Amino acid sequence: MKNLHPCMGRVNNKGRIHLPVCPSCNMFCKFCDRRIDDGAERRPGMSRALVSPEDAPLRVAEALELCPEITVVGVAGPGDSLATDHACRAFRAIGKRFPNLIRCMSTNGLMLPEKIRDVAKAGINMLTVTVNAVDPVILNELNDGIVYHGELLTGEEAGLILIKNQLEGIRLAVDAGLVVKVNTVLVPEINGRHIGAVARAAMRRGASICNIIPLIPQQKLSHLSVPSCTEIDRARNEAERYIPVFRHCAHCRADAAGLLFGKDFGNDIYHARASETFSHG
Ligand code: SF4
Ligand code: SF4
Repeated sequence: MKNLHPCMGRVNNKGRIHLPVCPSCNMFCKFCDRRIDDGAERRPGMSRALVSPEDAPLRVAEALELCPEITVVGVAGPGDSLATDHACRAFRAIGKRFPNLIRCMSTNGLMLPEKIRDVAKAGINMLTVTVNAVDPVILNELNDGIVYHGELLTGEEAGLILIKNQLEGIRLAVDAGLVVKVNTVLVPEINGRHIGAVARAAMRRGASICNIIPLIPQQKLSHLSVPSCTEIDRARNEAERYIPVFRHCAHCRADAAGLLFGKDFGNDIYHARASETFSHG
């Protein structure tokens, strides 16, 4: 699988399509900005449109016509993959029509222990779990709370549940045979000295690789600065003491399509339908 995956195998001649099928999220990261836009910005969470699970195979067919090098179908937003059943439904539909494409899902991990069976049944091969801290006090600086079983939880209580579910979910996903990558948003002022602890916890649960993503200062963290190259290097080196580090993240949008560093076909596939969708803000 690795040599067919543009991100995991670092193969430049293979592509991916991200399907923006997730309408909502179940937590409030302080730096999150999910918007439906015109495609101008290249960063996670942004999408031109929201696609229904039923429509997903059609979008994949269109993408394959434009870019036959696509080997991976990913779901990475704009909301969370497990906050609704949209992502799993889309993956099941894609599996029926395109069984040979690698299925790659990103999640915040809150619902992972409860949904791991659905994830496995949807034929997901590779899972990314974003873990920004394994200490509830630090997490509280990055996250305003979670919605868990219909209840809004904040503070340490929310952090403890989120961390427990993320780590347990990683272990369950690894046991189910998925390749697990852990993403961590690096905010030097908040979790800069905590990256090793996150990497160690991920390694102990069986994750294969981690990805340190520099903060894009926005929303409630807009007053912070963009991590410097030195800070990013230091964090990656710290993580690498425990687990291999992925160093070529392209900060893909939730509706990216094509080769990782080539032309993006997202506009051709999604733009015309932007007005039929809604933003979950
Ligand atoms: Fe999967 Fe992330 Fe690569 Fe998309 S950018 S294909 S979600 S690893
Ligand atoms: Fe935004 Fe992802 Fe955090 Fe949800 S988990 S609030 S989509 S960054």
